Amino acid sequence: MRPETLAVHAGADPDAATGAVAPPIHLSTTFAHGPAAERIAGYEYQREGNPTQDRLETALTALEGGTAALAFASGMAAITAMLEALPNASRILIPDDCYTGLRLLVQDFLGKRGIIATAVDMSDLAAVRAASAAGIALIWAETPSNPRLKIADIAALAQIAHAHGASLVCDNTFATPILQQPLALGADAVMHSTTKYFGGHSDVLGGALVFARRDALYERVAHFRHVTGAIASPFSAWLTLRGCRSLPARMTWHCRNARAVAEFLAAHSRVERVNWPGLSGHPGHAVAARQMRDFGGMLSVQIRGGRDAALAVASKAKLFTNATSLGGCESLLEHRASVEGEHPVSPQNLLRLSVGLEHPDDLIADLRQALA
Ligand SMILES: *Cc1c(COP(=O)(O)O)cnc(C)c1O
Repeated sequence: MRPETLAVHAGADPDAATGAVAPPIHLSTTFAHGPAAERIAGYEYQREGNPTQDRLETALTALEGGTAALAFASGMAAITAMLEALPNASRILIPDDCYTGLRLLVQDFLGKRGIIATAVDMSDLAAVRAASAAGIALIWAETPSNPRLKIADIAALAQIAHAHGASLVCDNTFATPILQQPLALGADAVMHSTTKYFGGHSDVLGGALVFARRDALYERVAHFRHVTGAIASPFSAWLTLRGCRSLPARMTWHCRNARAVAEFLAAHSRVERVNWPGLSGHPGHAVAARQMRDFGGMLSVQIRGGRDAALAVASKAKLFTNATSLGGCESLLEHRASVEGEHPVSPQNLLRLSVGLEHPDDLIADLRQALA
């Protein structure tokens, strides 16, 4: 079945007990079992697994074309669970441009286990090969990357990882499985912040891992989640599943609006550079065109005149709300350097835009007045 159909039907069987078409939310923390803990309906305790989370995992598995999925309380919980599965003193590669939380996790926590993480430009395969030479356990990719929208060649990264007996994990939050399926390109697992496009309405936090194989890695991560407890709550799982149903339709609209906004900005005299992989001048355009169905709803723009000029645009925007996060119906804008803490890595003139589902002409009118 095609993604649009899977998004509507995966994990959507009518409730066996009542025939309800919309899935029930099972809030029960515990499930009746036999006198010697024999399972009756497959469940025991909510932290280990629950029916609403199972439905979400069925949908995530189907959409990414994997064999198993694990839903988490947040994207960071999913990243943590995956990286905790690494042996102490592993070497890993992370993108030089990536979600700030990954950088902080590596810097503030994984170092204590002797894990050495090297930041590499994942769009430069020669650099990735050179950084792998000392031996690696894992390559973490994020494509398109946050916030510069760099593109990494997933199939090529999988080859490099596998040549070293390492795994490739892709953060697919920006693209979603509707636009890009890393497992089909050779990745071993996909990570999502479902807080973003899956949830789609800026009202539910969540994360997920989808695995190519139900293997020892999957078992280790599942055990970690069960013991440490960062599951998706039934209500969060239910909201995220509800978001899944309209994900393909929303992504089509996000991509269309982002194209209109990117083309408008690219032609504006106050703009130094637009980072959106759908533009033919983007350095990753050819790879993105090969491995993505469309180019997504995220972009960043670098304003001529530096930090003050960028902040002036951010302060004049009206339809675009100044806020962090992305992937909701409403358009958001953020000066990334201001939220990256003491040592910002984003250029001071960069604004990140999450292009929402409004009419593109209204979005462009807002940006036009903010740039005036
Ligand atoms: C938001 C985000 C995360 C972290 O997810 P949370 O749900 O906020 O914990 C990871 N990667 C990317 C690309 C994100 O945008």
